[in-house]
Amino acid sequence: MRILVTGAAGFLGSHLCDHLLAEGHEVVGMDNFVTGNRHNLAHLSGHQRFSFIRHDVSNFIFVPGELDAVMHFASPASPNPNSPYGYVNLPIQTMKAGALGTHNTLGVAKHYQAKFILASTSEIYGDPQVHPQDESYWGHVDPLGERAVYDEAKRFAEALTLAYHRFHGIDTRIVRIFNTYGPRMRLDDGRVVPNFIKQALQGKPLTVYGDGTQTRSFCYVDDLIEGIYRLLLSDEHRPVNIGNPHEMTILELAETINTMLENPAPITMLPKRRGEGDPERRRPDISRAKKVLDWEPEISLEEGLKKTLPYFQDHLGDL
Ligand code: NAD
Ligand code: UDP
Repeated sequence: MRILVTGAAGFLGSHLCDHLLAEGHEVVGMDNFVTGNRHNLAHLSGHQRFSFIRHDVSNFIFVPGELDAVMHFASPASPNPNSPYGYVNLPIQTMKAGALGTHNTLGVAKHYQAKFILASTSEIYGDPQVHPQDESYWGHVDPLGERAVYDEAKRFAEALTLAYHRFHGIDTRIVRIFNTYGPRMRLDDGRVVPNFIKQALQGKPLTVYGDGTQTRSFCYVDDLIEGIYRLLLSDEHRPVNIGNPHEMTILELAETINTMLENPAPITMLPKRRGEGDPERRRPDISRAKKVLDWEPEISLEEGLKKTLPYFQDHLGDL
């Protein structure tokens, strides 16, 4: 297949490009570097089946040549207001990437009669009142909260994707991605895994927001990409959760990372993160992914953190 990947210079997009190329496909990467990093694609320069277009997906998209699939991953993704890369500090770009960017990429898929896959998110469930979250849950999102620029854009993006499927017959997929970590995350994007690893490597106290009893379920990037690739090859038009159901508190994550890195500094408890609606609990129900994709994650948190560490050690000096 010849596949357009938007957000190609980001964390997930760059791993996706690698996987698609390894499977023998041709990849056109697109990014405007708002939160991504050109170094994430440096190893692909000169690759015969890879090309790159620097472009903001909020504007009309033209990709020369045929396309068989469009994978729309472009969007800021970190909620942390303390980072310049946090989407609450990029509110208009975030809404445009989710809304106009989804419209434009769906337009490309329609033009070429290509498959389309939307990178959606567990954030569409908001601060969930149902636990664990399966795809039938409608979510609990404050449309006026600071996080709404991301959550509502993704909810709009899902609705638009299904409208193109139902009205134009486009062969669409929706993946609801739960917290994922691994090499090539920005050390300074403010998400919890890079923040904690960075702090532990520096021998500084890990910053836990709130009382640390809020939970997340962390998936290693290779597991996630395998699930997304299986979804691309499937015929599933309904949303599919992809994530690791192993749930833990943020305090447990902090302790795990401190122990692994032998960080002697105590954990600092800070006020809850700014912006209402920091979800209290999050864990994917992956029954649908198991059934329709025969997929489940294989990499434990300890294994995944070990695979992630060398990248963070190498890039600590870039900050
Ligand atoms: P990232 O910030 O590393 O990557 C996003 C990429 O999109 C960046 O390279 C950025 O420059 C690019 N981008 C943003 N707006 C753009 C625009 N208007 N035009 C062109 N490029 C643009 O984040 P990520 O973690 O790799 O997330 C990728 C996708 O997966 C996002 O859509 C995000 O919502 C979704 N997602 C990620 C997670 C996760 O845990 N990593 C969880 C849920 C959903
Ligand atoms: N968090 C924290 N300390 C940090 C960064 C994040 O305690 O330095 C918490 C944050 O408040 C949230 C959880 O970790 O409860 C996960 O945050 P992240 O930004 O990684 O993603 P989210 O799951 O909220 O989208």
